[in-house]
Amino acid sequence: MPRFISTYLYPQQSAAQQASDNSYRVITPSRQASRAIAARHQPLYDTATKALEQHGQVMAQPLQAQKLFRQTVQAVLQPADLIGTARALMPAVRSLLQSSSNLECDSDNLSTRATNLITLAQQYQAALHKDGCFDEGELYWRAAELNVDPQKTLIYGYFQPRQDELAWIDKLAADKSIVFLPICDTALFVEVQSSVDFLEKRGWSVTGDEITTHLAVGIELCQTFLQPAASVVEQPPINAEMISAYAYGTLDAESRGVLAQVKALLSADVPAREIAIIARDERAYAPKLIDTAWEYGLPLRALYSTPLLTTRLGNWIEQLLNVLDAGFPFEATAKLLSHPLCSNPDSGFWAVARSQHPEGFQQWRKIAKENLGLDLSALAQVNQTRRRDTWVDWWQRLLKTYDLRLRCARWARESIAFNALQKGLVELSKPEAETLAWAEFRQQLEDLLEKLSVPAQPGRGGVELHSPASVVGAQYSHVFVMGMAEGILPPSISNDSVLDFFERQQLRGLGVCLLSAIELFHQETLSFYYLLQTATHQITFSYSTLSDRSEQLPSAYLKRMGLQIGEPPEQPIASLEEMRRGYLRQPDKQAAEASDPVLTQAIRAFQVEERRESALSADEYDGIVGVPFDYRDWTFSVSQLTNLGQCPFKWFANKVLKLGSSAEADTELSPSLRGNLYHQVVELLVKAVQANPQLSLTDPDLLREKFLEAEREIDFPTLPAWEMRREDHLRTLLTVLRKPDFWPDGAEPVALERKFKGEWEGFKVTGRVDRIDKTPDGLVLIDYKTSSKLPRGLKDSNGKTSIDLQLQLYQDVAASEMFPGETVTAAQYFSLTKGKVLKLSDKAPQQELPMAIENCKTALNLGHYPVQPDVKRDACRYCDFDPVCRQGSRLTRKENHHGTD
Ligand code: SF4
Repeated sequence: MPRFISTYLYPQQSAAQQASDNSYRVITPSRQASRAIAARHQPLYDTATKALEQHGQVMAQPLQAQKLFRQTVQAVLQPADLIGTARALMPAVRSLLQSSSNLECDSDNLSTRATNLITLAQQYQAALHKDGCFDEGELYWRAAELNVDPQKTLIYGYFQPRQDELAWIDKLAADKSIVFLPICDTALFVEVQSSVDFLEKRGWSVTGDEITTHLAVGIELCQTFLQPAASVVEQPPINAEMISAYAYGTLDAESRGVLAQVKALLSADVPAREIAIIARDERAYAPKLIDTAWEYGLPLRALYSTPLLTTRLGNWIEQLLNVLDAGFPFEATAKLLSHPLCSNPDSGFWAVARSQHPEGFQQWRKIAKENLGLDLSALAQVNQTRRRDTWVDWWQRLLKTYDLRLRCARWARESIAFNALQKGLVELSKPEAETLAWAEFRQQLEDLLEKLSVPAQPGRGGVELHSPASVVGAQYSHVFVMGMAEGILPPSISNDSVLDFFERQQLRGLGVCLLSAIELFHQETLSFYYLLQTATHQITFSYSTLSDRSEQLPSAYLKRMGLQIGEPPEQPIASLEEMRRGYLRQPDKQAAEASDPVLTQAIRAFQVEERRESALSADEYDGIVGVPFDYRDWTFSVSQLTNLGQCPFKWFANKVLKLGSSAEADTELSPSLRGNLYHQVVELLVKAVQANPQLSLTDPDLLREKFLEAEREIDFPTLPAWEMRREDHLRTLLTVLRKPDFWPDGAEPVALERKFKGEWEGFKVTGRVDRIDKTPDGLVLIDYKTSSKLPRGLKDSNGKTSIDLQLQLYQDVAASEMFPGETVTAAQYFSLTKGKVLKLSDKAPQQELPMAIENCKTALNLGHYPVQPDVKRDACRYCDFDPVCRQGSRLTRKENHHGTD
């Protein structure tokens, strides 16, 4: 009794009929295909691996294969980047192993690249065989060499079999077996026809019996699709109303449009398993679809494999490896501790961490223990050489210590990832007695993470996202095909970077058959053709006209099927978020939705934001709170009054709303830290010289001594390369100290860093004078500046920060409070960078100071603190409140009289 090849173009019904005869062992590539013919799922791959196992042959474990492959690449090519080269070449070598049962060929006329690749594949294969195993690429060839008992088999869904698959099918199929290889008399099926010819030569018989097939939507489309391009019929298909093609603006709109239709179907009690979403590149579409499906409350499953590294668990391990390698730096460790699989510290912890800025294992261990109750001790002493199994044991304990199994259990994908990792670690622990340094083990762990994979969005039930290839042979009543744009479906076919089409052609002459350009084109087209067959009731195509701001053209397949692209149907509101978005712009409907507190709040916030962005005058959300501030008991510093006079909101946010940033340890030499340090050094130096006139202000050793003392006194942080950078600062200060202006002849410092308090223009004020010199002409009050420019003052009537306040206060308040009755000759700024007095410009509008102070009073009396910085926005340069005031271009729309109104 012969074996049969069914070549009928629409095989599902026939296969289902045959499969109902329980005498067959049914083989299908996917669960979806087995469901379509009501059979148990068993893929060809499983039959081959099982047969090989029964004969004592084992497939190399992924890490073992990778190790041997890298060794072979090193021996054959000696590349500069071994890991990268091996990673790039592995797929091509695997394709070579799949393409031929025997790679022993004469490679004389091949390019060097092709010759190297063949040599690589041969030596890799030999190395595996020497170790008693084989690569997964040669699975079917090795299985086909076995002595197996053939069984009566039905093979459905392998409509474009490779040669190695055919060899194994031929081996395992007993008499009366049947394989479904649909063909048609067009060039598209030429490779399938070759497969049929191959089997016929092996004694299989073709049976082209057609059975009466229900004219489902997909089949009708298939018929149109196969017609020559010129003869595409204009008349609409019988099932026209069940076939649609839509153009959306963006991928987001397309995803929302498709998922809204899916939700409508589910609401109409269509079972989720009857609906499929198809995208040629699942990885590109899945993230947006998964996010939107979550918003819509839709169960969506994406079953394609994604590397374990892309999971939360993989990310946690990657971050931990970086932290261990870098010795617990602040940023990376903070990121690790904030990871969802880690301790989830609160803002209190971060306030402590920022103020202490821990670096290194010991500091982090202390702060984590004290503030999080988290013991990091397990992470100590990683730079060691240990037995392989001890390393693995160390990781197992680490996973336990941090309760990773439990934390991963919150997500289906993470749970699968955790189990996959556990399995992988078992593989990694062999051979147990081998000793590895941390660097070697780390590399192997990274390799493992790269090799392991998990389904992108696993779970039970739900609507599935698939690629065309993964639904071959399946059946769905409703199919949504996304991404029907040129270059996406079908994808453009381009040369492989490892073996181009010319080299593939040369290899074909030697019996190594890799896919040519035309075969790839046929493969893609047939995948789409089989995708059409999956739809029994309704099929909807869609694409987005814009992708990354580039225009996309509709797929040529749409024209080939004679479909008109239409406007998408009006989208129903499919989620609470969409409903809220809709009502935000329809305030008249608010009342009906008043019961939604989120919406009520959102509408309020939206209105506030609209007003803030408009030309309307500022309101209470923009600083006009209208609550008078009783400043009679408030003590103002110079900087407070300056802030009030530069941008009232800056003072309001800081002092009334108390939104100032939390204390954070310096990690760089900020202007304020540098200012503190310079002030301290100069004060210590002047004091020392005054106490001992034998000392010289310009003695470099004395300066160094006082510089180090100042660092200790202000608790100067550890800055990168500070030992070297300190020398620059010492040089700068020495140059300044040598300038005669720093300590003029005849001047005698009588006060250093002296505080003052007093009443001025109705304000209680306080401040500090850096130095007061007594000179023959009177007192000189000095304020040191580390900048080389004059400080910014209050706004003048032109909105410029040019009214100086500080020196005026020195003259009016400080001098009379500290040295009553003494003559004041000058109050001045001295630059510790330039070594000179910074003089106020003669054009400085000091006469406007009373007016500016009156404006400050008015702001306080009325409770008006508008966001009104100076015209050049110098006030914003070192302001912490930018995220709160949301200044930006909106301020140009607001009326502004620079506080003079
Ligand atoms: S960022 Fe500018 S506008 Fe905003 S509060 Fe600060 S100074 Fe005012």
